[in-house]
Amino acid sequence: MEEFTYTAQPARIVFGSGTLERVADEVTRLGRSRVLVLAGEHLRAVGDRVEKILGPLAAGRFDGAAMHTPVEVTDEALAVLRETGADCVVAVGGGSTTGLAKALAFRTGVDQVVLPTTYAGSEVTPVLGETGNGVKTTRSDPAILPETVIYDVELSAELPRALAVTSAVNALAHAVEALYSADANPVVDGMALDAIRHLARGLRGLDADPDARADLLRGAWLAGTCLGAVGMGLHHKLCHTLGGSFGLPHAPTHTVVLPHAMAYNSAAAPEAMRRVAEALGAADAPTAVFDLVVEAGGPTSLRELGLAEADLDRAAGLAVARPYPNPAPLTREGLAGLLHRAWAGERPAGGAVSPIEALTAQVVATFAGTEDARLRRLLTDLVPRLHAFAVDNDLTQAEWQQGIDFLTRTGQACSDTRQEFVLLSDTLGLSSVVDVLDNSRTPDTTPSAVLGPFYVEGPPELPQGADVSAGLPGTPLYVDVTVTDTEDRPVADAVVDVWQSNEDGFYDVQLPDLDGPVLRGRLRTDAGGRLRFRSILPSEYPIPDDGPVGAMLRAAGRHPYRAPHLHFMIDAPGHRRLITQLFVRGGRYLDSDAVFGVKEDLVVDFASRTGPTPDGAPVAGEWRELRYTFRIATTG
Ligand code: NAD
Repeated sequence: MEEFTYTAQPARIVFGSGTLERVADEVTRLGRSRVLVLAGEHLRAVGDRVEKILGPLAAGRFDGAAMHTPVEVTDEALAVLRETGADCVVAVGGGSTTGLAKALAFRTGVDQVVLPTTYAGSEVTPVLGETGNGVKTTRSDPAILPETVIYDVELSAELPRALAVTSAVNALAHAVEALYSADANPVVDGMALDAIRHLARGLRGLDADPDARADLLRGAWLAGTCLGAVGMGLHHKLCHTLGGSFGLPHAPTHTVVLPHAMAYNSAAAPEAMRRVAEALGAADAPTAVFDLVVEAGGPTSLRELGLAEADLDRAAGLAVARPYPNPAPLTREGLAGLLHRAWAGERPAGGAVSPIEALTAQVVATFAGTEDARLRRLLTDLVPRLHAFAVDNDLTQAEWQQGIDFLTRTGQACSDTRQEFVLLSDTLGLSSVVDVLDNSRTPDTTPSAVLGPFYVEGPPELPQGADVSAGLPGTPLYVDVTVTDTEDRPVADAVVDVWQSNEDGFYDVQLPDLDGPVLRGRLRTDAGGRLRFRSILPSEYPIPDDGPVGAMLRAAGRHPYRAPHLHFMIDAPGHRRLITQLFVRGGRYLDSDAVFGVKEDLVVDFASRTGPTPDGAPVAGEWRELRYTFRIATTG
């Protein structure tokens, strides 16, 4: 059993695009009414926008934040804060501006709302580094942690590309070191790995993927949270030394040093490195980070950052002067070697990589040039997962061959009226997963359900009141449904396609003797959003099980039955399409539907009735009535 201690940092996080607009609300939420706005260098215009949004809440402005939070600058800002009587600071900028906000909060107790424009992560840590008389001191105190952080992807997107790359690698360093931290714990590990995945994806997609900046900002938040939660090791201490004693720029120094610090720790922290490599979709973590930096066009040598070769040994001496927890033992010679390699910009020597890991990395790399960013993401993610499936299960040649044969037969079973691949996807639950991801994101609308394999394009147009069963035998069904939007306003002239099985559980396309489409049709709602038609009660049915999917179900001891249901596809201009199914309450197989399509909210009464149907038609014996209101979302 793993023992650990975890302390959460109580900050409110607002994440999104255009969230800058919420700054006044967030200040008010804290119960504050006089704001000193701190805007970083290059961010005056954004500072002006913040002041405008704050309106009467804005009480003053200070734009002089500087790198490493010099106490003289803090004193100047403090005078402005006191003059204005501010009870809150709103900081918009990078780690330097956040540092000033923290310094003011630590001295006065004012609340902080921080809008980060870089990926440094300071906004979610209770740590403050200040410089006075040339000495940088660091303290940690709960009062330093900003109360609210507003992450605005639009704001961070203004960060120039070169700064974005180094700042993102700065964040990556927090996540990597968190995984081998002496205080590591499962909560932080999870955040660190997620941060690494987002940061790598954002860095790889910077030029082509519209979501890249969102990925980077999300990664930065997670990585910063790791930094605030656990202690850092060699990498951060080295960067601290190089920044503090040699004046090297913060984020570019992190970018150069990270692969080398990782290589130094690699043998002593194999599990952390394996997890980092996996999150990067690579075989060896230190070289993968180096390659990521090269690919993104970031700096790779301390030489290009202006460090003199003669300073390397002194830097190594300073870095070992005070001990701190780190996986690999710290020696002056070891660090001098690390710094020489980082100074020269060498690619770290790869660790011990298995031939399979190397192969996976090689295959992933062949997709790196895929022009379509989304396709690139899907392919480069699919390959490591497929390979891991084979490795984790020790797949044999015979099993692989059986799998290929199965897929071949699945393809061969497909025709214009039979879709064995859809059946395979349905019976593996994949169709329902995609349905949940893609269609069910609005809680106010009727849940969607899978399309299934029996939909046929262009069904026959039928008038209101039509009998879609064309007189086929079965329990008569009278359907009276209404289509509304999420405000309960009727949606007139919506195109509603319906399709269902017959009394024996077959769709028309499965019955070659039938002449033309039946038990399917296209109808339109009236001015009140209503639609009425007649049919027969659908029954449970087996999905076609005479093909490879059926063989799979039999091998697994699974039945092939679907619970009885009616399909609907609803289209109306200005509204999102709804594809769904209504299940007969009390029907069989509701709890073991072969394609995992049943959702509780879609199980409805098909009420038993006798006497004439509402349209006045006489019925001998029992008939069923379905009344239902579909709620569909508007687009845009
Ligand atoms: P920074 O705030 O100095 O910003 C780097 C540069 O980018 C600056 O010139 C800044 O003006 C510019 N910039 C920022 N956003 C911009 C934008 N949107 N458009 C154009 N230019 C923009 O540096 P940083 O890398 O964000 O942060 C580094 C500082 O933060 C260091 O002092 C470091 O010690 C501190 N830090 C502290 C912690 C902590 O937990 N206490 C954590 C991380 C970093």
